[in-house]
Amino acid sequence: MTAILLTAPLQGWANALDEVPDAVFAGRMLGDGVAIDPTGGTLHAPCDGEVLTLHAGGHAITLRGEGGVELLMHVGIDTVQLGGRDFTARVGVGDRVERGQPLIDFDLDALVRAAPSLMTPLIVTNADAFRIVRRETDRVVGIGQLLMTVEPIAATMAAPSSAEGERIVRQVRVAMAHGLHARPAAKIGEVARGFVATSWLGRDGAEARTTGAVGLLGLGVRFGDTIDVIASGPDAREAVAALVTLIESGMGERAREAATSPVVTPPPPPPAVALPEGQLAGTLAAPGYTIGTGRWLRVADIAVPVDGQGAAIEAARLDSALSAVRETLATTTGEGAAIRAAHIAFLDDADLRDAANGAIGDGRDAGHAWRAATRAQAATLRNLGDARLAERADDLLDLERQVLGELTGTEAEAMTFPAGTILLADDLLPSQVMAIDPASVIGLAVERGGPTSHVAILAATMGLPALVAIGTPLGKVADGATLILDADGGVLHVDPDAATLAEARAHADRRTADRDAALACATEACVTLDGVRIEAFANLGSIEDAKAAMANGAEGSGLLRTEFLFLDRDSAPDVAEQAALYGAIAAELDGRPLIVRLLDIGGDKPAPYLPIAPEENPALGLRGIRVALAMPDILETQLRGILSVRPVGQCRIMIPMVASVAEIAAVRAVVDRLRAELGITDRVEVGIMVETPAAAVTAATLAAHADFLSIGTNDLTQYALAMDRGNPAVASGIDGLHPAVLQLIAHTTDGAARHRRWVGVCGGLASDRLAIPLLVGLGITELSASPRFVPELKALVRRLDTHRCRLLAVRALAAASPAEVRIMVREFLQEQGV
Ligand code: PEP
Ligand code: MG
Repeated sequence: MTAILLTAPLQGWANALDEVPDAVFAGRMLGDGVAIDPTGGTLHAPCDGEVLTLHAGGHAITLRGEGGVELLMHVGIDTVQLGGRDFTARVGVGDRVERGQPLIDFDLDALVRAAPSLMTPLIVTNADAFRIVRRETDRVVGIGQLLMTVEPIAATMAAPSSAEGERIVRQVRVAMAHGLHARPAAKIGEVARGFVATSWLGRDGAEARTTGAVGLLGLGVRFGDTIDVIASGPDAREAVAALVTLIESGMGERAREAATSPVVTPPPPPPAVALPEGQLAGTLAAPGYTIGTGRWLRVADIAVPVDGQGAAIEAARLDSALSAVRETLATTTGEGAAIRAAHIAFLDDADLRDAANGAIGDGRDAGHAWRAATRAQAATLRNLGDARLAERADDLLDLERQVLGELTGTEAEAMTFPAGTILLADDLLPSQVMAIDPASVIGLAVERGGPTSHVAILAATMGLPALVAIGTPLGKVADGATLILDADGGVLHVDPDAATLAEARAHADRRTADRDAALACATEACVTLDGVRIEAFANLGSIEDAKAAMANGAEGSGLLRTEFLFLDRDSAPDVAEQAALYGAIAAELDGRPLIVRLLDIGGDKPAPYLPIAPEENPALGLRGIRVALAMPDILETQLRGILSVRPVGQCRIMIPMVASVAEIAAVRAVVDRLRAELGITDRVEVGIMVETPAAAVTAATLAAHADFLSIGTNDLTQYALAMDRGNPAVASGIDGLHPAVLQLIAHTTDGAARHRRWVGVCGGLASDRLAIPLLVGLGITELSASPRFVPELKALVRRLDTHRCRLLAVRALAAASPAEVRIMVREFLQEQGV
């Protein structure tokens, strides 16, 4: 067996692929290899060979080397966006090259500014034929120094092609703006591997296996090309359908997006703060701080046969499994009702069932057919380029397991763990979280996941601190490791030393004692030291939230997110359904005020029953009240539902995303017409959300037409700072304590005061401890927080003096940065002994 030596193509620091900040490479979706963080600006050949492909942008090249080893080198991450700027190729396709020969020059300084990372992977892409037997990482390498040794895999070990039978072919137009480059090729391979069938893409008579990245790149597919998607094998039809859907989706790289921003790269995100050894960074999904033992949840796929016992039998098996799962979901009570409702809606999804039945008609087993249908849909959701939709893919995979469990008689994995477990997982499904016993599991740390997923919502409701999106470094945490999970701080400490652990224990004890003390007096009044009444309300998205709000001493609800009540359904809820739900929540609140926000659909909150055409800038498009005014039936149905709740007046109406007086007048006109029609003589308050800078700046004008104003700091922050609240690249810059946002809040309270209207906050700042003194100082008199934060909120307000808070706020308005504001408030609270 001849070893093939690959030398470093760049000088720099050699890293394991896990370190590459891109899931495609770190997840080895294109193959295994090593990545170099370069200190020089020329890429060299790692062996003798022939240039197979060279991307038009000049940032990626593939070679065929000795023995047929195929290599991909990709300079930097997301550099395809640069459209060739800063790269100069020194070779062409078909050229023979020698080890060490310069291949591509690039402007290192320019790339440092323009690309999220310069990590340059060298990947062996034909992994079925070669394996890496040695690699040099975690050290400096120079051009020509040994980087990797690879060996051919014996022919008998290489996976044979299993192509057989009829070839299914469909044509598709390529929607990806940059054509078929490395990232889409990896996604295509990932989807294709979910099927037994062998599949290919074809263009102009050439064909390449979908699982071979080099071959795919070699097709030279560009945006707008029409290509063939071909498959052969038992589930060929499903494979072709899934691949076509994927390619048609544009995989988050639709041409329109690129057309408006072809070469200009966004500024790199603020540099992440490097964490000391033994600490992993993650994204906050549910707040809290806990210390425990890490235990892994590992779940294997449920095995199902490919071929069925005949279409009639398999169709009946699928029907009865779906009914059984629906029955279980419908009869389960407790946490997660909205999520179970969403799962039932997926079970009834006609497209999903049609896809499964189509495969059954082709002779497939019911389980195989259901898996193919859910995975294709999940892949589509993941590739729409919308973070929230991608998170819904987890719900589909969850349903896949539930239905396959029913079909095969496989029991759900036991979710029993010893007390004090911090559960570690690659990914978690909502049903797994629902099955957790909170007496034993005290926190969650997840490699993937998103902060707004159902898993995050459930964890927060169950009071489980959770960090998500920790990435592959989590995989190195051993079962049984001692962990400090600081979800609020976004850090997981692994096997801390004795001193750190003792400090953490003391901190955790203090937090528990503070929380217990706050809970013990949660029902007491919320009044500042100098006697100013602040209403402590809770944000709700379900009946369970209303129960939690009451248990935590909330004095009402400052925000019912009605769109959350009707999640993931095909049809809009009618008057009776809405009236019943609002009535049930109002009853839980036992006469306390319930501020019902009109449906806030659009932007980052899609609703399948309100189809909104794709928009270039959804956050600036048809969303919030604009949707209701564009669809008057939806508005009227919802208002009728709210006005049916008795006593009249308990429910107040709140309009989302207001930007002008005309919007308030339009809603009020419908409310007044319906009141007259329904014989309601009592007054019904109509207030507005201040979420646009326009509303904040013109608060004095709007307040003349609104009964109250409630500031949605989540949206106000994104619009004030021009930072998309769902974009991880700018996540670290989004802070509602930015002085610009504070000035807009001050402007709002000033404007409202001219008409003696109260102003509340129902955005995330109301649940942020450091924001409370500032909001009180700026004249906010109602705070609507997440239910669990209410006791702490009340305890804090009781220790504040409004005069001192005002002085603090004046200083904060003039601060230079949110970080400066946070330091200021921390010192203030310390001085007050809080
Ligand atoms: C906000 O924007 O602050 C808000 C409360 O609304 P949502 O988070 O539901 O958009
Ligand atoms: Mg909002």
